[in-house]
Amino acid sequence: PKDSYLRGQNIIQAAKDSGAQAIHPGYGFLSENADFAQRCEDNNIMFIGPPASAIKAMGLKSAAKKRMEAAKVPLVPGYHGDDQSIETLRQACIDIGFPVLLKASAGGGGKGMRIVESIDEVEDAIAGAQREGLNSFSDSHLLVEKYLKNPRHIEIQLFCDSHGNGVYLFERDCSIQRRHQKIIEEAPAPNFPESIRQAMGEAALQAAKAINYIGAGTVEFLYENGEFYFMEMNTRLQVEHPVSEYISGQDLVAWQIKVAAGEVLPLRQDELTINGHAIEVRLYAEDPKNDFLPTAGTINQFLYPAQCSHFSLDYETGMRMDTGVAQGDEVSPFYDPMIAKLIVWGEDRQAAINKLQQALQQTHITGLTTNVRYLEQLISLPSFSAADSEVDGADFDTHSVSYTHLT
Ligand code: ADP
Repeated sequence: PKDSYLRGQNIIQAAKDSGAQAIHPGYGFLSENADFAQRCEDNNIMFIGPPASAIKAMGLKSAAKKRMEAAKVPLVPGYHGDDQSIETLRQACIDIGFPVLLKASAGGGGKGMRIVESIDEVEDAIAGAQREGLNSFSDSHLLVEKYLKNPRHIEIQLFCDSHGNGVYLFERDCSIQRRHQKIIEEAPAPNFPESIRQAMGEAALQAAKAINYIGAGTVEFLYENGEFYFMEMNTRLQVEHPVSEYISGQDLVAWQIKVAAGEVLPLRQDELTINGHAIEVRLYAEDPKNDFLPTAGTINQFLYPAQCSHFSLDYETGMRMDTGVAQGDEVSPFYDPMIAKLIVWGEDRQAAINKLQQALQQTHITGLTTNVRYLEQLISLPSFSAADSEVDGADFDTHSVSYTHLT
């Protein structure tokens, strides 16, 4: 990647040569790259995203948590100080109480995290996490958090314009993860009280305000036993934004462009409502039977339901396939192994699940191994549909599901 699409200077040159006024950085590394945003600014090209200063403010988990603490946004109990001596980190683990989670401050994508169950493991775990941080992110700085046993990952989609307005476009539930990486994302969150939705939405806006945010952003929270805690803010549009587009009826990329052009947000908070239920699954070139290792090769065949829309909302069919590859294309080992995102919409959660089942059954990718059948099994688990029941949120316990449970 660093020899191709991360060469920011070439992208800026291409914009200049073609007379483009603005650059949309997508949802990859460039979208959260403060240097690239700054470079665009310096070249009088609009970066479609937040100001470089806001990206920087949230770039490091520990610095972000300090700011959020000052802004009175609720945090997971933990330590995010500058003193990185083994003694201080060790003492922090003891004070917080086991189990704790060590995180690389510069980490992302689930990398640089270690669960520590007891005092005996602390020193090895600290050394290991520091090494991983240094190797993957060139930064060994750690933070320590209370490890919550059974949280849900619920995040708020928000938008701010350059005139001081901010709204939230509700939440996404991304609790279904593997190795702390999202696999299934849905909106709205099942069994989620309206009062918490509002409180979380307002906390997210408070977080954005504290860093003078402009544009699309996501504030991620952990939610457990009726309480929620700030985890981090992603200062970009996320991979899973289509589920929010479906339930709100809004085109978030269009919103981004309007905001970048200096317009006022298209809608006020009281004009936004939730319509139906949407679910997204990520189709990956990976082998579930071989520890989910990424696969590579040529896509011989890529079949999916003909009624799928692409990058746009269609409520009649309620099926959308967003992808940048087609039959005959090569999936190389050099980039993220995501092939496509399949998004469905239904009038309620069960209707969306049914549609997803139908769409996945009709999806076939040949030429390389993918996770399509794994996804099909995952969404057929009783614990997945149980989130629909009125019982209580505790039933929603699939976030730790692994392939072995499914065979
Ligand atoms: P990354 O930036 O690497 O994605 P995050 O801090 O966003 O890391 O955490 C990724 C996932 O790890 C969360 O969605 C959640 O499932 C899990 N996680 C993070 N912090 C905690 C915690 N304190 N307790 C339990 N699980 C956590």
